[in-house]
Parts: sequence; structure tokens; C-alpha cells
Amino acid sequence: MLKHDRSKKYDLIVIGAGASGLFASILYKRRKPEARVLILEKMDKPAKRLLATGNGRCNFLPLRDSKKAFHSSEEKEAHAYLESVSFEEVEAYWADLGLEWTLLDNGYYPSSLRAETLVEILLFWVKKLGIELRTDSELVDYEITEKDFKVFIRSKAEEKKTYISRQVLLTAGGQSQKALGGSPNIYSLLAGRGYALEETFPALLGLPLVKPSKRLQGQRVRAGLRLYLKDGKQAVLLGTDVGEIQFNKTGLSGVPVLQLSGAYTASRKGLNPSPYIYKTEELSLLSSVLDSRNLASYLKDEPDFDRISLTGMGPYFFLLDFFPQISLEDFSTYWEKRMNLFGGDLEQTLLNTLPKQVAIYLAGVLAKDRHKVSSLKAWPWTIAEDFVADNAQVTGGGVKFSNLRDKRPESRLEPGLFLAGEILNIYGDCGGNNLLWAWKSAILVSHALD
Ligand SMILES: Cc1cc2nc3c(=O)[nH]c(=O)nc-3n(C[C@H](O)[C@H](O)[C@H](O)COP(=O)(O)OP(=O)(O)OC[C@H]3O[C@@H](n4cnc5c(N)ncnc54)[C@H](O)[C@@H]3O)c2cc1C
Repeated sequence: MLKHDRSKKYDLIVIGAGASGLFASILYKRRKPEARVLILEKMDKPAKRLLATGNGRCNFLPLRDSKKAFHSSEEKEAHAYLESVSFEEVEAYWADLGLEWTLLDNGYYPSSLRAETLVEILLFWVKKLGIELRTDSELVDYEITEKDFKVFIRSKAEEKKTYISRQVLLTAGGQSQKALGGSPNIYSLLAGRGYALEETFPALLGLPLVKPSKRLQGQRVRAGLRLYLKDGKQAVLLGTDVGEIQFNKTGLSGVPVLQLSGAYTASRKGLNPSPYIYKTEELSLLSSVLDSRNLASYLKDEPDFDRISLTGMGPYFFLLDFFPQISLEDFSTYWEKRMNLFGGDLEQTLLNTLPKQVAIYLAGVLAKDRHKVSSLKAWPWTIAEDFVADNAQVTGGGVKFSNLRDKRPESRLEPGLFLAGEILNIYGDCGGNNLLWAWKSAILVSHALD
């Protein structure tokens, strides 16, 4: 049986109690206190993904507002949206809601360093402003009547339910991490209703290797990372970054790997992303001051492919540079000097330079071929292709900006239906950019709603 209560017509129904849905509802209701607002969340609790951000600490804004930190196949449109809300405006809204924050070297965090503080603040305002919030309520479909939206909800606890609203805001997020609410369902629903979608791909994720090293498992090392696609005898650069890499059971993780992962998954789907030249270390004010060699000069070094065999590699592979602080040109002199200093002992030289287990591993491989010492600047790892990526932090691609009215986050096809957050065809680099987009798009929606 389908239940609905006509006396309860809402001014706004928000689908998804995540970052952008909660933020937009609060800003809208503060602007229009008389409006009836209902948030419907399919999980048993609101904001599950938000609670997991930044390792539970929530890197809720980046240090800088840079369009370059965002990726979309509709760059012009995405940039226009990003530019229409300033960073200062986002900061001001958060200050106004009572959030106190601190700046760490890679971004803004609540001063408690706990994501739950940010969520508590959002839920405080939801309650205080009289916004209704129902969990265990999944949008499965909607219909448009003459003036209203009929929203069909599935719930574990109850029978199917219908709600009626003048306006609907879809902030259902991305597809990854099912346990945190990720799902492809709304994308399919919208595709079925004639919306144009960009092919989706997981982004900001660790990547598996064909031959992960057991001996390196759990190790971390600061290194340069270059991602290539093999194209015959050539290698096409898909991205590069410098920072702390982690070796895990199946492959590689750490911020530089996450940053390059979207270029890999997008390329695998044939999306032809432009090379992703990241600035992880430049994001960190602290390390860029301390670093003797900046990233710009690192990027100039192209590995010498005449000396690197691509046989048996690929199609996608990383070259790891264990000495990003030394240029390719200076490396052999540097290495000779260091070997002399430590008595010509390869293992000791590596031990006196790199983390212990990494040094022992590299020394073991190099012991068989000392001429390969130059490969310390370009250590090859082929990326495994057959894997299920549910560990991505965000989803690239999604609902195209072309479905929206000019600079207004409202559907052209179905006026009264608004979209914000990750569901749209954009994602950002690590370091608070994805939440910056969630807040910015929520602000835009809150202004545009009637
Ligand atoms: C582990 C992890 C760490 C991260 N760390 C950071 C970080 O430090 N900084 C940063 O900027 N970004 C980070 N992100 C990314 C960030 O969390 C997302 O970009 C952001 O939450 C997106 O906001 P959103 O409102 O679009 O979606 P979400 O916050 O995901 O909210 C969407 C909500 O909609 C609900 N929903 C989905 N479908 C339906 C439906 N049919 N009916 C009802 N409800 C539905 C979901 O359950 C969810 O609660 C991280 C992500 C992960 C997974």
C-alpha cells in the first residue's frame, strides 16, 4: 500500500543527508524560515561519508581555492560554477554556523580535529531550524505532477512512502563506498529520465600492482611518482606527483597515488584525461619551505626511456623515483659521492639514505645488477587491471552541467529539481577540494531555491 499525506506538502525535499544536502538545507531554511524542508537519507544515520573524511578528522577546505584542483570533462561550465561562490563566502558561512577551525599544512580542519564536530554542528542547525530529517528513506523514483514532485521512498522499516514537494534537491553523492552510502541508483534513474551523464570512474583511490612486494608491505617512503600508459614503444605520461607513498598488501597508496588514480581509471574508460600534474607538496606550505628542490624542477626531469625497457610492462605503469630531490643529470655524481662516503657498500649507502626496509629491498634487487642503480630514479611497477574499486573517495564523471540552466544548479528538463555535490560531473584533488565543491554548490542551490 502506498501512503501519503497531502496536508504535508513540502517546499523542499532534499535527497541525501550528506555534506551538500545538510549544508544547503540549513542555508535555505535560514533564508526562508517559513519553508517546510524534509531531508531523506537512505542510510540508518546521516553524514556517514562526512564522518569518514580526512581519516575521521575532516579536511573540510583546502589551503587555497584553485580551479586547477578540479577535474571535469565540462571544464568551462565547472569553472563557472566554482567561480560563482568565493572561498571567503564559504568560510563566512561556516564561521556563522559556529565552526572553529585550525589550519594544518594541507588544509582546514575543525579545531577539535574530529569530523564529528562538523557533523554535530550541521545536525544542531537542522534540529534548531525545524528541518525534518528521516533516515532509512531511499529515493527510488519520482513523478512530476502539474506543480509538484511526488517522491517515492523505499524503507526497511516501513512500507513504501510518497512525499510531495514544490522543489527537490538531489545531493545523493557518488557511487563508491557502499557502506558510506555510495550508489549508482540515482545516476541510472536520471539517465532513464533523459539526463546526459558523463561516464563515471572511481577517483582518489589506492591502486593495485601486478606484483606487489611482500617485503615492502606497510612501508612508507617519500618518492616521485609518474604514471604512464604504454603506447607501442612509447610511454604517454598521464600524471606525476611527489610525496609519501605507502606500500600495502595489494599495491600502492598515499596521497600522490590517490591524486594520479583518477587519471588512470578515466584513461581506462577511454576518457582521455589531460595529464594530471599535481602539486601535493606545494599544497603543504611547510614541506615546500623545507624542500631543497621544488616540484617545478622535478617535473622538468623526463625519465630516459632509451634506458628503460618497456618489455613486459603495462599497459599502465608507475615509475617511482626514490630520489626526487636530485635531478636526473646530477644523480650519478651524487650517487658516486655517497657510495664513496659509505665505503662503497651499496646496502649501507641505501640504509643511510632511505627507510630501512625499503633500502634492504632495493639493495637486494640491485645486488644482482649494479648497473641498474640509475633505476632508483625510475623504478617500474605495472598496475593491475582486474580489480573492483570500492575504496575510492570520490566518483569522477556524473550528471553533466549541460543539464542545468546557465549558472543555476536547476534542471533544464525538470524545473524545480536542483542538484549539488559529487553527483555532478566534477571532482577535486585530495586536500579539502571535494568538500569545498560540496559547500560551494550547496550555497549556489540555497540561493537559487524559491
Ligand atoms: C574515506 C573518505 C575520505 C574523504 N576525505 C575527504 C577530505 O578529507 N576532504 C574532502 O574534501 N573530501 C573528502 N572525501 C570526499 C567527500 O566525502 C565527498 O566529496 C563529499 O562527502 C560529497 O558530498 P555530497 O553531499 O555530494 O555526498 P555525500 O556526502 O556522500 O552525501 C550523499 C548522501 O546521499 C545519500 N543517498 C544516496 N542515494 C540516496 C537515495 N537514493 N536516497 C536517499 N539518500 C541517498 C547517501 O547515503 C549519503 O548520505 C572523502 C571521502 C571518503 C570516502
